[in-house]
Amino acid sequence: MGDIQFSAFRFALQDFVPTLARVSVQFTILGSGSSGNCAYLETDEARLLIDAGLSTRQIRNRLLTIGRTPENLTGILVTHEHHDHIQGLAVLATKLSVPIYCNRLTKEAIELLVEAPVRCNIFSTGASFDVNDVRVDTFSVPHDAYDPVGFLLHTHAGQIGFLTDLGHATKLVIERVRTANVLVLEANHDLKLLQDDTRRPWSIKQRILSRHGHLSNAAAAEAAEQIVSAELRHLYLGHLSGDCNRPEIALATVNERLARLGAAHVSVAAASQDVPCATLSVGSQTPACPTGTA
Ligand SMILES: [Zn+2]
Ligand SMILES: [Zn+2]
Repeated sequence: MGDIQFSAFRFALQDFVPTLARVSVQFTILGSGSSGNCAYLETDEARLLIDAGLSTRQIRNRLLTIGRTPENLTGILVTHEHHDHIQGLAVLATKLSVPIYCNRLTKEAIELLVEAPVRCNIFSTGASFDVNDVRVDTFSVPHDAYDPVGFLLHTHAGQIGFLTDLGHATKLVIERVRTANVLVLEANHDLKLLQDDTRRPWSIKQRILSRHGHLSNAAAAEAAEQIVSAELRHLYLGHLSGDCNRPEIALATVNERLARLGAAHVSVAAASQDVPCATLSVGSQTPACPTGTA
């Protein structure tokens, strides 16, 4: 009897100790919107940016708000070469020698844009690779860039999916992020606000609305409905247009759809262009962005 009790205690202790010893996985969207996108993921062994679409100064300042500096980054994962995803990339790569991870066509497009060679760790779209203790799955998304990708990042505390800059949600992308516990999903524009916008020429509107443009709020709600699972806990709506969307409209559209499904376990927040979201401890139940930062 005594032996049984002892071994039960020993197993309980073994289960407990590694949990205490591990640093939690922290995720912070430093900024997301049509003008710039950058997120930060920290694990025991990795400090990663996902895109570097803010100015280097903004990336530094926003990392400082969470007590981090660009000098300590272990890598930058790049989805595609558009300005709002690489604005701060060249300086971080050249001055601070932060390793970049992107596919070959994206590297070539970046080099054309910055008019200088950029050293990259090249991955093939669709492949997976490791950056220290983070496993990175890559997959193709339909968007008007050379070889745009989404990511699913596997950490010991959970999986984080990135699905922004896509004209429509293909079966492939839905499948690739279905196991995510945290998901950044594009909700770029409200259809009516975009149609009524007088500053954009029709050709630009057509580009945004095309199957290789950006997801509307309604399309984001549709995608969320297809992706949502019992494992999905935190849904960030990202890449909101400053002119053709409002956080409250995007949130209402997606929340209404999830409510109809009875998916009350998903915390939905709109990321902001201007200020970082509150840091999320991946695997915890704490809310994503506090209301009011969106
Ligand atoms: Zn973008
Ligand atoms: Zn883009």
